[in-house]
Amino acid sequence: MNCPTLLRVVYSVIRQCIPILLCGIAAQSCSTLQQHASAHTESSGTVSSDNAAKARRIMREAGLHFSSDTTKAYSYDPPGSLVTTNKQIELPKRRVILFSKAGVGFSTDFDGARLNDVVMLNDSTFRATVAPENAPINFSAWYAFKVWSTIPSKIIRLTLTYTEAHHRYIPKLSRTPSADWRSWRPIDSTSYIPHYDSTGRTITSATLRLALTPDTLWVSAQELFTSRDFEVWSTRLAALPFVQKTVLGKSALGKPIIRLDISEARPDAPCVVVISRQHPPEHTGTLALLPFVEEFTSQTPLAQEFRKKFRVFVVPCVNPDGVDAGHWRHNAHGVDLNRDWYNFNQPETRLVRDALLHMRDSLKTRFVFGVDFHTTQHDIFYTLSNPPLVTAQDSIAYATIPEYSTYNTEAAQRSAFVEQWLERLQELFPTYQVTISDSPRTPHGATSGRWFDRELRAPAVTYEAGDETPRELIQSIGAASARILMQMLLDREKTINRSQE
Ligand SMILES: [Zn+2]
Repeated sequence: MNCPTLLRVVYSVIRQCIPILLCGIAAQSCSTLQQHASAHTESSGTVSSDNAAKARRIMREAGLHFSSDTTKAYSYDPPGSLVTTNKQIELPKRRVILFSKAGVGFSTDFDGARLNDVVMLNDSTFRATVAPENAPINFSAWYAFKVWSTIPSKIIRLTLTYTEAHHRYIPKLSRTPSADWRSWRPIDSTSYIPHYDSTGRTITSATLRLALTPDTLWVSAQELFTSRDFEVWSTRLAALPFVQKTVLGKSALGKPIIRLDISEARPDAPCVVVISRQHPPEHTGTLALLPFVEEFTSQTPLAQEFRKKFRVFVVPCVNPDGVDAGHWRHNAHGVDLNRDWYNFNQPETRLVRDALLHMRDSLKTRFVFGVDFHTTQHDIFYTLSNPPLVTAQDSIAYATIPEYSTYNTEAAQRSAFVEQWLERLQELFPTYQVTISDSPRTPHGATSGRWFDRELRAPAVTYEAGDETPRELIQSIGAASARILMQMLLDREKTINRSQE
């Protein structure tokens, strides 16, 4: 059964079961990739009737997931991810480790580095341990280090092992690293041996064969792009007369969080919101964000017309502390920022929220789109489905909103806008699979996309580029998706204006 058909079936089941759901079943909608399916957690109560049990069985057979864990937002989240008060973290060690007998050195003395320990097994074999900033945590096992030999040439074997996780990223190597991904290349497959667990599906560790010279070799989970690179990129864009670069505020460790405003329109013009890098290792999300944002600054007639009618609000790096510390997921307080958009316990999420609410409340800004760039194993667009009714608590909460029916109609329009945007992207890239993972709106949703939808009433999407998606393709899709968005928003404004004449 394809996804839209499944969705219709599920929707009809849910509609029939709303009275049952109100008794306390948690459910979720269809996902094109079930392993990414979101499990909503506002579940409680007991299933007491035969009908409820039947509904539950039908939904389970349809691939829906039930969770009673109230500390997890998604099925792949570890327990406690929705608890966003400050947690204990291990600060990164910035150091050089020299094995003089073997003539080999390692360094983590740079932003973005992570390699917790290295031991020498013999003079050409080493084992490294990579650990997260705190635990439990998602398995985004980031590492980055420099390595060299003190003799003219030496081949070593280095096994990367992990605490709290499995191996995820294919190593990227560079001798002349820069912000340009072309200065890096994935390790040669003949020099990369993944080690699987007994299921044959999970890579527990990986051995790298590295050819060393005194010229430093950089090894990183993904191409390095730290807060300094965001600063350089933003400053370059801000040289354009219609780009304003300001500091939104300071991160937990006092690093500036950069804000860009792109526009030639009035201060209260309709606005597109773009954010990224809540999760430190998610560099391919940045690789999509950069051309996406740059499209709004181009000299094409489309971009020029767009800038005269719309504004673009950009926070390219929400979590500079985590990026520079080489974190796997969290900010300097050990918290997943993209689970803090309900409680707002962290300075970074509060800063973005306050700036946007100021625009909404003081300037009466209308928000026409919100996108948050991320990275996951494969390219996925997380969207919000309609109706906004799935869990029991959601149903009750939404039913108590006085303007519920208006809200529901507008929510459907927002979903349709995002759907149309992705359909056009698919038409433009017929050989590329635009994968959509649709999940329900929730009144307490703690991700940025849900907050953009709920508080800004903006069509919202979480844009995930894959770990190993070809970089040129990521850039092409990032740029094209911005062009499609500009055209759709301009067309829609013309329709709105005509209907008001
Ligand atoms: Zn992410």
